[in-house]
Amino acid sequence: MKLAPTDALLILDLQNDFCLGGSVAIAGGHAVAKQMAKAAAYFEAAGTPIYATQDWHPADHASFRTKGGPWPPHCVQDTPGAELHPDLNLPATAIIVRKGTTPTKDAYSGFIDSDLEEQLIAAGIKRVFVGGLATDYVVLNTVIDTIDIGIETYVLVDAIDAMNIEPNDGLRALHLMQTTGALIITMADLLADDQDAS
Ligand code: ZN
Repeated sequence: MKLAPTDALLILDLQNDFCLGGSVAIAGGHAVAKQMAKAAAYFEAAGTPIYATQDWHPADHASFRTKGGPWPPHCVQDTPGAELHPDLNLPATAIIVRKGTTPTKDAYSGFIDSDLEEQLIAAGIKRVFVGGLATDYVVLNTVIDTIDIGIETYVLVDAIDAMNIEPNDGLRALHLMQTTGALIITMADLLADDQDAS
């Protein structure tokens, strides 16, 4: 696709704790990191911005079971589990947006407890392409929020993966994103060079 300066890539929570070997591992997380590495290289070559969210919790975060929350401890600040997956291999120009830093506050959207909205608005972003983890939590809620603030939102359907705590949570999330107004495309659609298309 032909990218404009007002386009952005939005990479969600592609961190070690959400991939194999992590504390809240998603089986396909590693494959998603490889896909988003390709997307990041494409945006970098076009000179368009790349934002990557990073779940960045204090050790006593409210979402942890130890504090009565639903999840095992994950993405604790300055631990290997919180690092972006090495295969993501982000260019130096990528903008990291940390979220979930308030101990008492949990959020499944990249817009809550972060400055993502301010950053996208300040950069004049009109269209985002979204991939990362997990389809049924952070991808779903972030996509609903990007649509809500008036940004045209494309979901890279083969660069996301779901927790699927209940069977088909991921499919339901994808359907909900679509009915909310997200456009569903593949990596091949994104990477197709249509510069010469008439
Ligand atoms: Zn978290």
